[in-house]
Formats: sequence, structure tokens, C-alpha cells
Amino acid sequence: MKSSFNRRQFVNTLGMGSLGFVFLNSFSQTHPEIIMHNANIFTSNIDYPKAQAIAISNGKVIAIGNDADILRLSGSKTRRINIGGKTITPGFIDAHSHPAYSGRAHLRNVDCDLRSIQAIKDAIKSKSIETRPGKWISGFKYDDTKTTDGRYINRYDLDEITPNHPILITHRGGHTVYVNSKALKMAKIDKSTVDPKGGFIVRDENGEPTGLLKENAVELVNKLIPNEFSAKDNQEGVKLITQMMARSGITSVTDAYGDQKFLTAYRDAYKANELSTRINCMIGYFEIDDFIDQGIKTGDGDEWVRIGGMKLTCDGSISERTARLSKPYIGRPNDYGIIVMDEEELYGHAIKAQKADWQIGIHANGDVGIEKSLNVFEKIQREYPRNDPRFRLEHCTVINDEILKRIKKLNVIPNPFSTYVYFHGEKMVAYGKERLENMFAVKSFLDLGINVTQTSDYPPGPFEPMMAIQSSVTRTDMSGNVWGASQKISVEEALKVGTINGAYASYEEHIKGSLEINKLADLVVLDEDPTHVDTDKIIDIKIERTMVNGNWVYES
Ligand SMILES: [Zn+2]
Repeated sequence: MKSSFNRRQFVNTLGMGSLGFVFLNSFSQTHPEIIMHNANIFTSNIDYPKAQAIAISNGKVIAIGNDADILRLSGSKTRRINIGGKTITPGFIDAHSHPAYSGRAHLRNVDCDLRSIQAIKDAIKSKSIETRPGKWISGFKYDDTKTTDGRYINRYDLDEITPNHPILITHRGGHTVYVNSKALKMAKIDKSTVDPKGGFIVRDENGEPTGLLKENAVELVNKLIPNEFSAKDNQEGVKLITQMMARSGITSVTDAYGDQKFLTAYRDAYKANELSTRINCMIGYFEIDDFIDQGIKTGDGDEWVRIGGMKLTCDGSISERTARLSKPYIGRPNDYGIIVMDEEELYGHAIKAQKADWQIGIHANGDVGIEKSLNVFEKIQREYPRNDPRFRLEHCTVINDEILKRIKKLNVIPNPFSTYVYFHGEKMVAYGKERLENMFAVKSFLDLGINVTQTSDYPPGPFEPMMAIQSSVTRTDMSGNVWGASQKISVEEALKVGTINGAYASYEEHIKGSLEINKLADLVVLDEDPTHVDTDKIIDIKIERTMVNGNWVYES
């Protein structure tokens, strides 16, 4: 596919300010546009962790300090906002998520994050009424462990909804789908159909397909669904999802598997003034040649839509229990998970990106997947050393001491799931209590000074930063089970992981991630101080307002 971008569009247009320390009178000529005062400000700046007031002009922080000093700077046109003692933090950075993909799903598909099969049927029924007969109905975010029925949804449930529409609903984790009889018929899947390589057509005791298709069998049906998303739809999806994220306190997000069309959607949304969060767009390895050919690389773009690293995938997923482990899953003694791409192939893509000055992120969940990915990073850095490559391990879930040492030595950035312990507790049984002490190992990373980030991977994990903080601080799921207590961190640590560490992961720590002079005015007003509420109530903290670039993108 030919790239529709040229190099000029991505030349970094941002004049980077020098790192500002807190002092007050360096800009005596102009008065601030906005002053927020009487606030409890958590800055994420280690040199000046707390403040009461902040002054903003032209989308940037121009002063931060105590009420008296900052208020003294105001002029007749300054908007003074009394925050009433509430808490301000830097805007949250979701360092690995899938905004464009999930945005258009929210726009068009049925959200199946519901608590019973009946509720899902009702939601699909409503959609079918407004959908022309014969057209596909797609659902997403279905999770078999979240419905009270204690079983998978099947073709017969879906058949009861409508005889006129083919239906496909995708599991939250993304590797399995559930279809109705009409869809099976269209795909010519019946009793006699052989499982494709690397895929499973799940069958009942009589050999009849149940409607559940796994891994490579998904494609048998997926290929029949026409791609009806126009550039306009993609743009609208971006508008919707970035609004949803901004409402939860996110001001920057990394798309961990972007491509040409998603990048276009982000840029279109930005131009139309419809982008509520900043985007760091990683590019899937399959399109990387187009970008390299045009001289585009990591860091091009501007502070709103920026080119991130190249993305590769090494092993399976945590939520669907396919990550490649050195010790088997609990209750499945022969199951070690899967490798998606072997080391040699990973290397082939990675060395190309390394030579073209791209940051590289490899999806690696299990300890075996992580070791293989580290082998690749070490090899390309040995053969073709780059200054400050900031290799990324996407997820980096199951670790050990040796892995930690290698990550530290190479300054690799781990991007673990931040909401899984809280939200996906019921899936942790497959990993076991003991292994959980070394999973989503934020404390182990922080203890070694490793720049670990906050991530959702949305849709697989919820993106709300307050859930991420509670999950990291309590290591407790929604039913009260504790998973990996040794990895608990403090609220202050979680706040930094979710802000300044995310900025570092995309080489943007000079412009955002903390509230200090010359940095972008991206911040959140919370109705309670997360360092003062009960740790199991952090999730209930309300986001009152979200500011990006000095403008309110959300006000409750
Ligand atoms: Zn992902």
C-alpha cells in the first residue's frame, strides 16, 4: 500500500522548551490566561512535588507554586479559577492502547460488556431492528467470565435474536468469536468442516459447531464481513474514543498497533478539532517499509499526533491464557502457551527498524516470550548500536530476576497491564498465586529504577486511570482476592507511573508528564485526593475536569 503521507507533514514542529524548575518571575511581561488556585496539586516533579496554584498561557504551564505567589501574577484578563481545595494531577498517559480500533467499534458495534447472556441478546436485538436484513451485526467486548450464566454464549442464543442477520461477537481479548447459524452457513462451516491450521471450530457432543471459533478459525467468518469503515467513520471513531478517554482523565495515549488508516484518522480528527487526547501512534511492522521509504521515523509529527515506534508480536495473550510460559498453566499441565513469531523473524523486522532509527516495541507476555524479545533487542543493539533506543516490551507480564537484570542493563521500557488484577481477577487462577508475585511486576521494576508505564490495552483492559491506580496499589480484584501482594506500590508511585513514566516511554518527558514550567498544560481535576481516600475507594474518585493544551476537553 502506498503511503499517503510525505515527510514534511511529519517533521517535528514542536519547539522543545528547556526543562523548567519552579520559579516565578521569569516572564514578567505577560499575564497568564488562566490561574488555578486553592488546589492540592500533585506535580509528578520530584524537585517540587506539591503546589497550590498553577498559571497557564498558550497551552503551557508558565508558573507553579503557592497561592500568594501565583495569584500575584494575574492581570485584568486572567481567568482565575478557585479549585476549592480539590486535587490536580498531570493528565494521565495510557502508554499502550488501541483507540482508533476501539473507537469505531463503539461507533458501530454492540458493546457486549454486559452481565448476562440475556442482556447481550437484548442489546443485539435493538441493533437488529435498525439494521437492514442480511447485513452483519458485530458485537465486541464479550467476556465469558463476566456473565452470570457460567457458560459461553452459543449459536442457539444468537439464533433466537434474529433469523435475518449474520451475527459475530468478538471476545474482549480479541482471539475468539461467537457466531450464529446464519453466519456459520454463510462461511460453509458444518459438522464435516476440518479445523484450519492453528484454529479450532468448537463442537458439541454430536460434532455440531457451537458457534465458538478460536484463533485461525476466526478468519473463516471474519473474511466475509465487508469493511464498511470509511475514512470519515475512522475519524468519528477517534473523536468518540478520545472523548471517552478524556472523561476518565487520560490526556495522551499510545496506539500500540497503528497503521496508515488509523494515523490518517488521528490527523483528520485533529484538523477538525475533534481530538480530545494526544496520540503517539506506533506502526505495525507490516507497513513499516512504506514509512521507512519516505524517511519517516519515530518522533516525527507534533505534540498532538506523533509517530511512535514499530510494533511486533512475539507470543500470546494474558486474558485468553495463551502467553508463552516456561511453566505450564495451572490445571493444564501440557499447555505452555504459544509463540506467534519466532526469534529469527522478529530479528529480521527489528534490525531494519533499528537501522532506520525507529523505536521498537515487541508484544511479549510470558517469560519465554520476554526472553526471546530481549535476545532480539540485545542482538540488534550489539550489531548496530543506537544512542538511547528505549526498546519497549509491550505487556512484559511474567518476569524473573534474570529478566529484570537484562531489562535494567539495556534500559528497556516495560508496559504492563494496569487494570488486569482488579478487572480480570477471575482469569488469574490460570497463572496461580505464586506466579502472580512476578506478574505486572511494577514494584520490581520501580525498585530497580526501570521506567515502567501505565497501560490499559483497551479494549482488553478498561482504561480508567483510577482503576489502574487502585489495581496497582491494592493488587486486589473486584471480589476481594489479592494477587501478587509483593508487587503493591504506593499511590504516589502509581501516579508517577501513570504520568511522567508514560511521557518517557515516547521520548516526551521534556514536554509533558509533570506539571512544571514550559511543559504542556495537560492536567486533571479530581474530586478527592487519591493519596487520602481508602485505597479500595480510589476507583470511585470522580474526574471533574480534564485539560489538554490549556483547554478543557471535559467538564463534569
Ligand atoms: Zn495491545
